[in-house]
Amino acid sequence: MEIYGNKGALKRLSEYKESERMPHSLLFFGDTGTGKRTLADYTAMLYFCERGGTAPCMTCLNCERTEKHIHPDVIYIDCENTSVTKLREILRDSAGASVEGGIRVYILSEFQFFNRECQNALLTYLEEPSDKMRLILTASNKNGILPTILSRIALIQTEPLTVTECENVLKDGGVSEEEAEKLARMYKGNLGMSLKALESENAALYFDFAREYAEAVYSGEEYKALTVIQRLPQPKDDKREPVRMLVTETGKLFHDAFAKACGGKASCGCDEALAQRLAEKYPVSVLSELCEVSQHFGGIVSSVYFNSKITLNAFTARIFETAEKN
Ligand SMILES: [Zn+2]
Repeated sequence: MEIYGNKGALKRLSEYKESERMPHSLLFFGDTGTGKRTLADYTAMLYFCERGGTAPCMTCLNCERTEKHIHPDVIYIDCENTSVTKLREILRDSAGASVEGGIRVYILSEFQFFNRECQNALLTYLEEPSDKMRLILTASNKNGILPTILSRIALIQTEPLTVTECENVLKDGGVSEEEAEKLARMYKGNLGMSLKALESENAALYFDFAREYAEAVYSGEEYKALTVIQRLPQPKDDKREPVRMLVTETGKLFHDAFAKACGGKASCGCDEALAQRLAEKYPVSVLSELCEVSQHFGGIVSSVYFNSKITLNAFTARIFETAEKN
Protein backbone atom coordinates (compact mmCIF):
# COMPACT_ATOMS: atom_id res chain seq x y z
CA MET A 1 0.00 0.00 0.00
CA GLU A 2 1.30 3.40 -0.92
CA ILE A 3 0.12 6.56 0.81
CA TYR A 4 0.52 9.75 -1.15
CA GLY A 5 0.49 13.12 0.56
CA ASN A 6 -1.53 13.44 3.79
CA LYS A 7 1.70 13.98 5.74
CA GLY A 8 -0.15 15.71 8.58
CA ALA A 9 -2.45 12.72 9.04
CA LEU A 10 0.44 10.25 8.97
CA LYS A 11 2.37 12.31 11.52
CA ARG A 12 -0.61 12.40 13.89
CA LEU A 13 -1.04 8.63 13.60
CA SER A 14 2.60 7.88 14.25
CA GLU A 15 2.57 10.21 17.26
CA TYR A 16 -0.42 8.38 18.69
CA LYS A 17 1.33 5.08 18.19
CA GLU A 18 4.64 6.25 19.59
CA SER A 19 3.03 7.56 22.76
CA GLU A 20 0.91 4.40 22.96
CA ARG A 21 -2.23 6.47 22.83
CA MET A 22 -3.93 5.16 19.73
CA PRO A 23 -7.49 6.52 20.01
CA HIS A 24 -10.35 4.05 20.29
CA SER A 25 -12.33 6.04 17.74
CA LEU A 26 -11.28 8.40 15.01
CA LEU A 27 -12.73 10.17 12.04
CA PHE A 28 -11.02 10.95 8.76
CA PHE A 29 -12.82 13.75 7.03
CA GLY A 30 -12.06 15.48 3.74
CA ASP A 31 -13.21 15.67 0.15
CA THR A 32 -13.98 12.54 -1.83
CA GLY A 33 -10.79 11.20 -3.35
CA THR A 34 -8.38 12.55 -0.75
CA GLY A 35 -7.40 9.17 0.70
CA LYS A 36 -9.78 8.64 3.63
CA ARG A 37 -10.36 4.97 2.95
CA THR A 38 -6.68 4.28 2.38
CA LEU A 39 -5.88 5.98 5.68
CA ALA A 40 -8.59 3.95 7.41
CA ASP A 41 -6.91 0.74 6.20
CA TYR A 42 -3.54 2.14 7.22
CA THR A 43 -4.87 2.83 10.73
CA ALA A 44 -6.32 -0.68 10.98
CA MET A 45 -2.84 -1.95 10.08
CA LEU A 46 -1.37 0.20 12.85
CA TYR A 47 -3.71 -1.45 15.35
CA PHE A 48 -2.81 -4.94 14.18
CA CYS A 49 0.75 -4.83 12.83
CA GLU A 50 2.83 -7.59 14.42
CA ARG A 51 5.98 -5.47 14.40
CA GLY A 52 4.28 -2.73 16.39
CA GLY A 53 6.30 0.22 15.03
CA THR A 54 5.10 3.78 14.58
CA ALA A 55 4.13 2.89 11.00
CA PRO A 56 2.71 -0.45 9.86
CA CYS A 57 5.35 -2.74 8.35
CA MET A 58 3.02 -3.65 5.43
CA THR A 59 4.59 -7.10 5.21
CA CYS A 60 3.46 -9.08 8.26
CA LEU A 61 0.45 -11.36 7.98
CA ASN A 62 -1.85 -8.88 9.74
CA CYS A 63 -0.81 -5.97 7.52
CA GLU A 64 -1.15 -8.10 4.42
CA ARG A 65 -4.60 -9.37 5.34
CA THR A 66 -5.74 -5.87 6.20
CA GLU A 67 -4.51 -4.51 2.91
CA LYS A 68 -6.36 -7.24 1.02
CA HIS A 69 -9.46 -6.66 3.12
CA ILE A 70 -9.47 -10.23 4.39
CA HIS A 71 -8.51 -9.67 8.02
CA PRO A 72 -11.27 -11.38 10.03
CA ASP A 73 -11.27 -8.67 12.67
CA VAL A 74 -11.49 -5.69 10.35
CA ILE A 75 -15.13 -5.15 9.48
CA TYR A 76 -16.35 -2.66 6.90
CA ILE A 77 -19.68 -0.95 7.39
CA ASP A 78 -21.34 1.11 4.73
CA CYS A 79 -23.26 3.73 6.71
CA GLU A 80 -25.61 4.46 3.86
CA ASN A 81 -27.06 0.95 4.11
CA THR A 82 -26.87 0.11 7.80
CA SER A 83 -29.95 0.21 10.02
CA VAL A 84 -29.95 1.30 13.63
CA THR A 85 -30.89 -2.26 14.67
CA LYS A 86 -27.80 -3.62 12.93
CA LEU A 87 -25.62 -0.91 14.44
CA ARG A 88 -26.91 -1.58 17.96
CA GLU A 89 -26.22 -5.27 17.43
CA ILE A 90 -22.63 -4.51 16.41
CA LEU A 91 -22.05 -2.19 19.34
CA ARG A 92 -23.59 -4.59 21.83
CA ASP A 93 -21.75 -7.66 20.60
CA SER A 94 -18.36 -6.00 20.33
CA ALA A 95 -16.96 -7.25 23.62
CA GLY A 96 -15.32 -10.63 23.14
CA ALA A 97 -16.53 -10.87 19.58
CA SER A 98 -13.17 -10.76 17.82
CA VAL A 99 -12.24 -13.80 15.78
CA GLU A 100 -8.59 -13.90 16.79
CA GLY A 101 -8.97 -12.93 20.42
CA GLY A 102 -7.68 -9.36 20.24
CA ILE A 103 -9.50 -6.23 19.29
CA ARG A 104 -11.96 -5.85 16.47
CA VAL A 105 -11.83 -2.82 14.18
CA TYR A 106 -14.90 -1.41 12.48
CA ILE A 107 -14.45 0.90 9.52
CA LEU A 108 -17.60 2.97 9.02
CA SER A 109 -17.48 4.75 5.69
CA GLU A 110 -19.46 7.83 4.66
CA PHE A 111 -20.48 8.39 8.24
CA GLN A 112 -22.38 11.57 7.39
CA PHE A 113 -25.09 9.34 5.94
CA PHE A 114 -25.95 7.90 9.35
CA ASN A 115 -29.31 9.23 10.49
CA ARG A 116 -29.89 10.83 13.88
CA GLU A 117 -31.02 7.55 15.42
CA CYS A 118 -27.84 5.77 14.38
CA GLN A 119 -25.68 8.65 15.50
CA ASN A 120 -27.38 8.64 18.91
CA ALA A 121 -26.77 4.91 19.23
CA LEU A 122 -23.11 5.51 18.51
CA LEU A 123 -22.98 8.38 20.94
CA THR A 124 -24.29 6.15 23.74
CA TYR A 125 -21.52 3.70 22.88
CA LEU A 126 -18.84 6.41 22.84
CA GLU A 127 -19.76 7.44 26.34
CA GLU A 128 -18.52 4.05 27.50
CA PRO A 129 -16.42 2.53 24.74
CA SER A 130 -15.38 -1.11 24.88
CA ASP A 131 -11.66 -1.85 25.09
CA LYS A 132 -12.19 -4.68 22.61
CA MET A 133 -13.37 -2.48 19.79
CA ARG A 134 -11.92 0.31 17.67
CA LEU A 135 -13.94 2.54 15.37
CA ILE A 136 -12.57 4.26 12.29
CA LEU A 137 -15.03 6.63 10.67
CA THR A 138 -14.71 8.36 7.32
CA ALA A 139 -16.84 11.25 6.10
CA SER A 140 -16.60 13.58 3.17
CA ASN A 141 -18.47 16.16 5.21
CA LYS A 142 -18.48 16.46 8.97
CA ASN A 143 -21.32 18.99 9.05
CA GLY A 144 -23.96 16.28 9.36
CA ILE A 145 -22.30 14.69 12.38
CA LEU A 146 -23.47 15.38 15.94
CA PRO A 147 -21.09 17.76 17.75
CA THR A 148 -21.29 15.46 20.78
CA ILE A 149 -19.79 12.68 18.63
CA LEU A 150 -17.12 14.93 17.18
CA SER A 151 -16.03 15.95 20.68
CA ARG A 152 -15.46 12.31 21.67
CA ILE A 153 -13.36 11.09 18.78
CA ALA A 154 -10.03 12.03 17.24
CA LEU A 155 -10.52 14.14 14.11
CA ILE A 156 -8.05 13.97 11.25
CA GLN A 157 -8.50 15.94 8.06
CA THR A 158 -7.35 14.54 4.70
CA GLU A 159 -5.96 16.83 2.03
CA PRO A 160 -5.62 16.57 -1.74
CA LEU A 161 -2.13 16.46 -3.24
CA THR A 162 -0.71 19.48 -4.99
CA VAL A 163 -1.33 19.42 -8.73
CA THR A 164 2.33 18.57 -9.38
CA GLU A 165 2.39 15.78 -6.78
CA CYS A 166 -0.77 14.29 -8.24
CA GLU A 167 0.65 14.49 -11.75
CA ASN A 168 3.83 12.69 -10.64
CA VAL A 169 1.93 9.91 -8.89
CA LEU A 170 -0.16 9.35 -12.02
CA LYS A 171 2.94 9.29 -14.22
CA ASP A 172 4.66 6.83 -11.86
CA GLY A 173 1.57 4.66 -12.26
CA GLY A 174 2.08 4.49 -16.02
CA VAL A 175 -0.27 7.29 -17.13
CA SER A 176 1.08 9.28 -20.07
CA GLU A 177 2.56 12.70 -19.33
CA GLU A 178 -0.15 14.54 -21.22
CA GLU A 179 -3.00 12.62 -19.61
CA ALA A 180 -1.47 12.93 -16.11
CA GLU A 181 -1.15 16.68 -16.46
CA LYS A 182 -4.70 17.02 -17.76
CA LEU A 183 -6.23 14.95 -14.94
CA ALA A 184 -4.19 16.51 -12.14
CA ARG A 185 -5.18 19.98 -13.30
CA MET A 186 -8.82 19.12 -13.92
CA TYR A 187 -9.23 17.58 -10.44
CA LYS A 188 -6.95 20.08 -8.66
CA GLY A 189 -4.61 17.43 -7.30
CA ASN A 190 -7.38 15.09 -6.15
CA LEU A 191 -5.78 11.71 -6.80
CA GLY A 192 -8.88 9.63 -6.08
CA MET A 193 -11.01 11.56 -8.55
CA SER A 194 -8.26 11.46 -11.18
CA LEU A 195 -7.94 7.70 -10.80
CA LYS A 196 -11.69 7.25 -10.96
CA ALA A 197 -11.90 9.26 -14.18
CA LEU A 198 -9.08 7.22 -15.61
CA GLU A 199 -10.73 3.98 -14.57
CA SER A 200 -14.03 4.78 -16.21
CA GLU A 201 -12.24 5.89 -19.36
CA ASN A 202 -10.44 2.54 -19.32
CA ALA A 203 -13.63 0.63 -18.59
CA ALA A 204 -15.39 2.23 -21.56
CA LEU A 205 -12.47 1.23 -23.76
CA TYR A 206 -12.67 -2.39 -22.67
CA PHE A 207 -16.45 -2.49 -22.94
CA ASP A 208 -15.95 -1.79 -26.65
CA PHE A 209 -13.34 -4.53 -26.99
CA ALA A 210 -15.50 -7.04 -25.11
CA ARG A 211 -18.55 -6.15 -27.19
CA GLU A 212 -16.60 -6.62 -30.40
CA TYR A 213 -15.12 -9.88 -29.18
CA ALA A 214 -18.49 -11.31 -28.13
CA GLU A 215 -19.96 -10.13 -31.41
CA ALA A 216 -17.27 -12.17 -33.22
CA VAL A 217 -18.22 -15.19 -31.09
CA TYR A 218 -21.88 -14.63 -31.99
CA SER A 219 -21.14 -14.59 -35.71
CA GLY A 220 -18.65 -17.45 -35.43
CA GLU A 221 -15.76 -15.44 -36.88
CA GLU A 222 -12.67 -16.45 -34.96
CA TYR A 223 -10.31 -14.29 -37.02
CA LYS A 224 -12.31 -11.22 -35.97
CA ALA A 225 -11.84 -12.14 -32.33
CA LEU A 226 -8.10 -12.46 -33.01
CA THR A 227 -7.98 -8.95 -34.48
CA VAL A 228 -9.58 -7.62 -31.28
CA ILE A 229 -6.77 -9.24 -29.31
CA GLN A 230 -4.16 -7.64 -31.53
CA ARG A 231 -5.59 -4.21 -30.91
CA LEU A 232 -5.60 -4.42 -27.09
CA PRO A 233 -3.44 -1.82 -25.34
CA GLN A 234 -0.04 -3.07 -24.20
CA PRO A 235 0.98 -1.10 -21.14
CA LYS A 236 4.61 -1.67 -20.21
CA ASP A 237 4.05 -1.95 -16.48
CA ASP A 238 0.99 -4.19 -16.37
CA LYS A 239 0.60 -6.78 -19.08
CA ARG A 240 -2.12 -8.60 -17.17
CA GLU A 241 -4.59 -5.74 -17.05
CA PRO A 242 -5.77 -5.73 -20.71
CA VAL A 243 -6.13 -9.52 -20.68
CA ARG A 244 -7.97 -9.44 -17.37
CA MET A 245 -10.33 -6.73 -18.60
CA LEU A 246 -11.11 -8.43 -21.91
CA VAL A 247 -11.67 -11.85 -20.38
CA THR A 248 -13.73 -10.46 -17.50
CA GLU A 249 -15.92 -8.15 -19.56
CA THR A 250 -16.53 -10.79 -22.23
CA GLY A 251 -17.28 -13.28 -19.46
CA LYS A 252 -19.87 -10.88 -18.03
CA LEU A 253 -21.63 -10.77 -21.41
CA PHE A 254 -21.72 -14.57 -21.48
CA HIS A 255 -23.00 -14.54 -17.93
CA ASP A 256 -25.82 -12.16 -18.85
CA ALA A 257 -26.68 -14.31 -21.85
CA PHE A 258 -26.75 -17.36 -19.61
CA ALA A 259 -29.00 -15.58 -17.09
CA LYS A 260 -31.36 -14.51 -19.87
CA ALA A 261 -31.46 -18.00 -21.36
CA CYS A 262 -32.49 -19.29 -17.92
CA GLY A 263 -35.30 -16.73 -17.74
CA GLY A 264 -33.39 -14.30 -15.50
CA LYS A 265 -32.15 -10.77 -15.97
CA ALA A 266 -28.91 -9.36 -17.35
CA SER A 267 -27.03 -7.89 -14.40
CA CYS A 268 -23.36 -7.33 -15.06
CA GLY A 269 -22.39 -7.02 -18.73
CA CYS A 270 -22.01 -3.92 -20.85
CA ASP A 271 -24.50 -4.77 -23.61
CA GLU A 272 -27.88 -6.25 -22.79
CA ALA A 273 -29.07 -6.49 -26.41
CA LEU A 274 -26.00 -8.50 -27.36
CA ALA A 275 -26.50 -10.76 -24.35
CA GLN A 276 -30.08 -11.29 -25.52
CA ARG A 277 -28.91 -12.30 -29.01
CA LEU A 278 -26.36 -14.71 -27.54
CA ALA A 279 -29.09 -16.15 -25.33
CA GLU A 280 -31.28 -16.75 -28.36
CA LYS A 281 -28.55 -18.35 -30.38
CA TYR A 282 -26.93 -20.69 -27.87
CA PRO A 283 -28.40 -23.36 -25.61
CA VAL A 284 -28.01 -22.97 -21.86
CA SER A 285 -25.37 -25.71 -21.71
CA VAL A 286 -23.10 -23.89 -24.16
CA LEU A 287 -23.60 -20.54 -22.44
CA SER A 288 -22.82 -22.09 -19.11
CA GLU A 289 -19.61 -23.52 -20.53
CA LEU A 290 -18.67 -20.16 -22.04
CA CYS A 291 -19.03 -18.65 -18.56
CA GLU A 292 -16.86 -21.39 -17.10
CA VAL A 293 -14.15 -20.92 -19.73
CA SER A 294 -14.09 -17.16 -19.04
CA GLN A 295 -13.88 -17.73 -15.32
CA HIS A 296 -11.09 -20.25 -15.76
CA PHE A 297 -9.04 -17.85 -17.87
CA GLY A 298 -9.77 -15.00 -15.46
CA GLY A 299 -7.96 -17.15 -12.90
CA ILE A 300 -5.02 -17.84 -15.21
CA VAL A 301 -4.40 -14.09 -15.55
CA SER A 302 -3.43 -14.00 -11.88
CA SER A 303 -1.14 -17.04 -12.05
CA VAL A 304 2.64 -16.89 -11.92
CA TYR A 305 3.12 -18.46 -15.34
CA PHE A 306 1.04 -15.87 -17.10
CA ASN A 307 1.87 -14.91 -20.67
CA SER A 308 -0.57 -12.52 -22.31
CA LYS A 309 -0.26 -13.80 -25.88
CA ILE A 310 -0.53 -17.48 -25.03
CA THR A 311 -3.40 -16.83 -22.62
CA LEU A 312 -5.42 -14.83 -25.12
CA ASN A 313 -4.89 -17.31 -27.95
CA ALA A 314 -5.79 -20.24 -25.73
CA PHE A 315 -8.84 -18.35 -24.45
CA THR A 316 -10.02 -17.69 -27.99
CA ALA A 317 -9.45 -21.29 -29.07
CA ARG A 318 -11.46 -22.58 -26.09
CA ILE A 319 -14.27 -20.07 -26.54
CA PHE A 320 -14.74 -20.89 -30.24
CA GLU A 321 -14.42 -24.60 -29.66
CA THR A 322 -17.19 -24.30 -27.03
CA ALA A 323 -19.42 -22.08 -29.19
CA GLU A 324 -19.09 -24.46 -32.12
CA LYS A 325 -20.61 -27.25 -30.05
CA ASN A 326 -23.89 -25.53 -30.74
ZN1 LIG B 1 2.79 -5.35 9.93
